[in-house]
Amino acid sequence: MSKLVINYEKLTMDNIKELVAICPFNAIEAKGNKIDINAGCKLCKMCVKKGPKGVIEFVEGESKKIDKSLWKGVAIYVDHVEGKIHPVTLELIGKAKEIAKKINQPVYALFIGHNIEKKAEDLLHYGVDEVFVYDYAELKDFTIEPYTAAFEDFINKTKPTAILVGATTIGRSLAPRVAARFRTGLTADCTILDMKENTDLIQIRPAFGGNIMAQIINPNARPQMSTVRYKVMDEAKRQDEISGKATLCKIHKEKLHSNIKVLKVTKKQVENSISDAEVIIAVGRGIKSQKDMDMVQELADLMDAKVAGTRPLVEAGWIDAKCQIGLSGRTVKPKLIIVLGISGAVQFTAGMNSSDYIFAINKDEKAPIFNASNYAIVGDIYEIVPKIIEGLKANKKIKAVI
Ligand SMILES: Cc1cc2nc3c(=O)[nH]c(=O)nc-3n(C[C@H](O)[C@H](O)[C@H](O)COP(=O)(O)OP(=O)(O)OC[C@H]3O[C@@H](n4cnc5c(N)ncnc54)[C@H](O)[C@@H]3O)c2cc1C
Repeated sequence: MSKLVINYEKLTMDNIKELVAICPFNAIEAKGNKIDINAGCKLCKMCVKKGPKGVIEFVEGESKKIDKSLWKGVAIYVDHVEGKIHPVTLELIGKAKEIAKKINQPVYALFIGHNIEKKAEDLLHYGVDEVFVYDYAELKDFTIEPYTAAFEDFINKTKPTAILVGATTIGRSLAPRVAARFRTGLTADCTILDMKENTDLIQIRPAFGGNIMAQIINPNARPQMSTVRYKVMDEAKRQDEISGKATLCKIHKEKLHSNIKVLKVTKKQVENSISDAEVIIAVGRGIKSQKDMDMVQELADLMDAKVAGTRPLVEAGWIDAKCQIGLSGRTVKPKLIIVLGISGAVQFTAGMNSSDYIFAINKDEKAPIFNASNYAIVGDIYEIVPKIIEGLKANKKIKAVI
């Protein structure tokens, strides 16, 4: 592992002050006539490059060599609550099939829970080669220790080269624990995944506030792990016939011990999420006042659509935070999204550019949203939207087509 080495004999009271001031992450702490580097260090090497010469050195660690041929298959984690499978699972299967095909390796699904055997068989309709089932009473409710233990057991026995996990509440808490057990990397919220011939998984995700798309690979560790948000990848299609097999896995019961006792499960009200909407009217700062949201709502009602929008509208309190599309909001993939008065910042488009049809209206012909759109009108929403509403009211056939 690479590390910073402090040459204590070169420390003086003056250069200690200099080093403390230079670190952008406040990771260098003065401790009398010595210094400490704390957990805030990002190994940016600013102290090495810009600090007093030779006081701190960067020592490159040797990367451990792994035998990639020992790791085979692309696995997905089956996200569920009480056996009800989250649809992100089918999206993960769709992507896993695509990338596994490139290296000619199988697709596995890992299903952890209780009374799930029948449900596991259903996954074989989606082209999974083998579903590994951990079906124990101790796994009835999601508790982190036994689920991590079952996941670990699966990896040790199956050795998949890559594992995809849905970026749901469960996936986001489970995947990092599992990655830490194997001292491997985990890339969160990937938007694009691809596979190299040498089985290195190419994980692409927005970084630095969405200003760049980072391409991340993990060539020196296995398994490679990624989380993927719901509605980013295409679902695997259900086939009538089944393929592959479901395998019931055994694990020592003591490994399933948890220090967490589930006393009661209170179900959250099922929310009508924009992520599930087939038609969305998305609005941005082109809307001039809150009362104009009535016009947007009228259009949405005529089209059986949901209203969503950009972050500034959430900040203004004009739409609910759950209806924000984008990097710090939700990802949507409707059949049709009508985008009104939105510039098309990358932080917004990252959350909607997989939609089937994107129709944008903006008065600025150079607005970046047009680069992501299938259909576009350069014009004022206050002129165009009332005309669409009028047209829809007059012609019910159009409404039926939508
Ligand atoms: C870390 C980070 C995360 C972020 N996450 C998100 C996120 O998740 N979601 C998000 O949306 N933003 C996010 N943002 C903010 C993002 O960068 C943009 O500022 C935001 O998306 C802009 O919103 P907008 O398009 O509504 O406004 P603007 O950029 O101001 O665009 C308004 C558009 O309306 C057009 N317009 C104005 N009047 C009319 C009219 N009468 N008719 C037609 N067109 C008109 C203008 O030409 C303009 O293109 C994030 C930013 C950061 C730094």
